[in-house]
Amino acid sequence: MMDETAVYICDSCGEEIEVSLDTSAGNQQEYVEDCPVCCVPNVLRVTWDEDGRAWVESTRE
Ligand SMILES: [Zn+2]
Repeated sequence: MMDETAVYICDSCGEEIEVSLDTSAGNQQEYVEDCPVCCVPNVLRVTWDEDGRAWVESTRE
């Protein structure tokens, strides 16, 4: 069972953002998503660990 949501801290505005995850696309993903608070595009790196827990790392594009 893989997490389908996770939170990250926006690198630009510092807000905590919850994201919905597409678990069908593999257990390591990287994509760009605009922050819903400040609209700055963040590069999100999502990984799931062995327990199915999702980890999101955000860097500014
Ligand atoms: Zn932001």
